[in-house]
Amino acid sequence: MTDYDSVVVGGGIVGSATAYHLAREGFETLLIDRGDAGRATAAGAGIVFPATSSLNESPDWFEFALHAADHYPVLASELDRYDHTYTRPGLLAVAVDADEVGAFEESKRRAERRSDEHGHPRPGRFEEVSPERARELYPPLSGVERAMFYEDGARVNGQAFASSLRQASAAAGATIHDGDVTGILVDQGIVGGVETAEGDTYSADTVVVAGGAWSPDLATDIGVDIPVEPQRGQILHLDVGPLGHTRPTEGWPILKAFRGHYQVPWPDDQVACGATRESGTGFEPHVTLGGLQEVSTEALRVASGLDEAHHLETRVGLRPASADGLPIIGPVPEIEGAYLATGHGPTGLTLGPYSGRVVADLVLGESPEVDISPFRVERFRA
Ligand SMILES: Cc1cc2nc3c(=O)[nH]c(=O)nc-3n(C[C@H](O)[C@H](O)[C@H](O)COP(=O)(O)OP(=O)(O)OC[C@H]3O[C@@H](n4cnc5c(N)ncnc54)[C@H](O)[C@@H]3O)c2cc1C
Repeated sequence: MTDYDSVVVGGGIVGSATAYHLAREGFETLLIDRGDAGRATAAGAGIVFPATSSLNESPDWFEFALHAADHYPVLASELDRYDHTYTRPGLLAVAVDADEVGAFEESKRRAERRSDEHGHPRPGRFEEVSPERARELYPPLSGVERAMFYEDGARVNGQAFASSLRQASAAAGATIHDGDVTGILVDQGIVGGVETAEGDTYSADTVVVAGGAWSPDLATDIGVDIPVEPQRGQILHLDVGPLGHTRPTEGWPILKAFRGHYQVPWPDDQVACGATRESGTGFEPHVTLGGLQEVSTEALRVASGLDEAHHLETRVGLRPASADGLPIIGPVPEIEGAYLATGHGPTGLTLGPYSGRVVADLVLGESPEVDISPFRVERFRA
């Protein structure tokens, strides 16, 4: 049996960030990850821009997301020696068809109000642009009715960022294991560690459950219902090299229309087009014909110039969707030393690194700078 101050279960973006912040503070930290097929961090599109998120109607979410967006560049600068990929190419929001103009105008008004009240998006760094200018910014774009350009729209490759966090954690002294945590040890209401399917037991004063959509499996030992379910997302990755555009994709902005989909350009002629949001499919990280049809039809509606792009791969991730759409962060009631960091749903790449920081603060016995009461698991108790 090896002793740790803390065991973090799950090495997606949330668990990796938690381990990083703990290890940096000198906590003896063990991160254990099972590497499930369908882990969300490996499939996420990587848009980090609360101003245009579909979730920004919730004031609690938005407040937390603002902190999270501010935390990113700070964290990225700490990870500079790794290939963390965080960058700000801007974001273009477009109404392609006339029936999207109402939603476009509403989102424009909301951005202006948020900018006045919260400084996000930053004043003077977003404006409506002409359809011609929009096409210059995003060459394969279809003809559009209206377009807004947000200069600070950011993106991150979740897989690369989480990997950078794990490397930095290890450099700060954390131990990283591949493994399957099958139980959390609890004695008289106090956490004692974890045991794994490989037959190992690790003692620890604290355990953080950051198992994404699989988190509820660990609920029994800590006597808490974790209302999180997998929401499947299928996302296509394209090679746009054959289209022959002269401006490198690295400089293209993220593209969003108003039917819930988006396109995220990456260096080396790559563009990711996503994504489905499928509930009730269980733990089935499969590519389906219906998913491919949905995503490719919408991608071509918004950017008809993509029709000769080559299909590289389709990734599938299971978003950890909570019952009310907000993350579940904080201590487990009545169990000393157990913490939850899950339920980040469709915005976990945005929130995850900051959630890791907040949970690490709690584990370290410090008060986080934000009020976490809207995110505590107790909110689901009748
Ligand atoms: C298609 C798609 C597009 C997305 N786009 C965006 C976006 O643009 N912006 C955004 O902010 N978010 C986006 N998201 C959401 C984001 O990817 C997720 O919210 C986030 O990655 C969740 O991270 P996580 O660490 O909680 O879970 P995961 O990444 O799923 O990681 C959980 C890890 O825990 C491990 N684990 C579970 N149980 C155990 C156990 N018992 N023992 C050991 N290990 C265990 C799993 O194997 C897994 O590796 C998207 C998601 C998808 C699928």
